[in-house]
Amino acid sequence: MESKFVTMTIGKQKNIALIAHDGKKEQMMQWCEKNKDILQKHFLCGTGTTARMITDRTGLPVKGYNSGPLGGDQQVGAKIVEGKIDLVVFFSDPLSAQPHDPDVKALLRIAQVYDIPIANNLASADFIIHSSLMDEEYDHNVIDFQENIRNRANTL
Ligand code: PGA
Repeated sequence: MESKFVTMTIGKQKNIALIAHDGKKEQMMQWCEKNKDILQKHFLCGTGTTARMITDRTGLPVKGYNSGPLGGDQQVGAKIVEGKIDLVVFFSDPLSAQPHDPDVKALLRIAQVYDIPIANNLASADFIIHSSLMDEEYDHNVIDFQENIRNRANTL
């Protein structure tokens, strides 16, 4: 079935979600400190512990959702679906097993579906945060979910 797309605009001021697994929290804190001047121009949110630690360490306001293993990644995913998150910096830990691995996969998948930039390591985060697009509006095409439902309801 053919999917139709709608053009959505990511504004100049971005809604950025910040998530770090325990083994990557220090890296996230250092990255936020280093990029504080850029980050403070945007709206920040994150999974509970990551958000609290960033605020404590840098003074940046970060709206906290639940802790990751308690559904925080799913909350971030739901906000992507609602069009309320424009960029995700997710320092996942590839060397330790996570109890909420299915949630992590679901978040990566939904970010792909909605064409949301997602950095999963330091270098990607550095490249994204220093992109000229951080200070510009950006149009991208995302699946028209209403059209998608209409099509499915008519054809299935
Ligand atoms: P936390 O969750 O910020 O509450 O530690 C992160 C995660 O494990 O997804």
